[in-house]
Amino acid sequence: MTAQEKQPDLTDFYWMIQMLQTVDVGLVILGRDYRIQLWNGFMENHSGLPGKQITGQDIFSLLPDLPRTWMERKIESVFKLGAPAYSTWEQRPHLFRFKSYRPLTGQSELMYQNITFMPLLGPDRKVQQVCLLIYDVTESATSKLQLEQANQQLEKLSRTDRLTGLNNRGFWEECLQQEYRRCKRSGGHASLIIFDIDHFKAVNDTHGHQAGDEVIRQVAKQLKHTARDTDLAGRYGGEEFVLLLPDTDEFGALEVAERLRHLIQDMTVDYEQLKLKITISLGVCPYSNELQTARQWLEQADQALYHSKHQGRNQTSLWRPDLTQLA
Ligand code: GH3
Ligand code: MG
Ligand code: MG
Repeated sequence: MTAQEKQPDLTDFYWMIQMLQTVDVGLVILGRDYRIQLWNGFMENHSGLPGKQITGQDIFSLLPDLPRTWMERKIESVFKLGAPAYSTWEQRPHLFRFKSYRPLTGQSELMYQNITFMPLLGPDRKVQQVCLLIYDVTESATSKLQLEQANQQLEKLSRTDRLTGLNNRGFWEECLQQEYRRCKRSGGHASLIIFDIDHFKAVNDTHGHQAGDEVIRQVAKQLKHTARDTDLAGRYGGEEFVLLLPDTDEFGALEVAERLRHLIQDMTVDYEQLKLKITISLGVCPYSNELQTARQWLEQADQALYHSKHQGRNQTSLWRPDLTQLA
């Protein structure tokens, strides 16, 4: 008998079993009938189910939480094709509901798992069993998730104005560009409102910059309150705000502008012992096919705003072609 033909003796068998029991990967061997033939130490430790007791049991009766249809589909394909199948934590965070004990990853309650479904061939080269390898990937999964979360946070910060939580100028202008292009392409209505706090410098000069900041915050609050989910509100500059209204014609936009003007006129800003009253001036400009650029759209809204200022403030003006000459 050559060395290659040598049959594994009992010693080989024992050390192999010891390895299977102690390796830091879950190993489950299932027969054609979904009965458990091996449940290694990793599985025992995390499930609390001793391998000796559960060998021979149907896995789905033992663990009714398992996604049966999905697992059967995977396992049947392994039996049929004789090729391994995989599932990553990104597709399915876990197959077995095991607690995560890793102290470093205090964030995650459950163990994230990558799974390999491996065919085990018999002497006739046919698949006789399927071995599930369960890898604990909690650490890399949570750090990836944390990184994604941090990136989302950063992205949000980079488009948010710090003082008001509104969209900042850069991000809002990008959205304006998009809306402008959308209108050019497919027609439809959209309108723009721009407004500026009246005599704001006096608030700062009389009551200080902090009081001015509180006024800006309260104006932003009213703006958020007035905007619909699909509208896009932004802080354009110091005390200048913008509101982009998709699917809104000039009449709708004028209504929104007037509602906002009244809200702000009626509001009282409490700052320390002070009770501050302010007003705003607004300009409205609907989208028109004659506009050449998004910038021009904004400039026209701004011309309407300055018309409101010149006319005495605390009012709304709609852009008209002759405002260009008046300004
Ligand atoms: P008008 O009615 O013509 O708009 O007069 P105004 O006083 O509001 O206009 P002006 O542009 O002269 O004043 C704007 C002031 O806003 C000047 C600037 O110091 C102040 N400002 C800009 N950003 C901030 C901010 O973030 N916080 C505070 N408190 N003030 C700001
Ligand atoms: Mg102002
Ligand atoms: Mg201003």
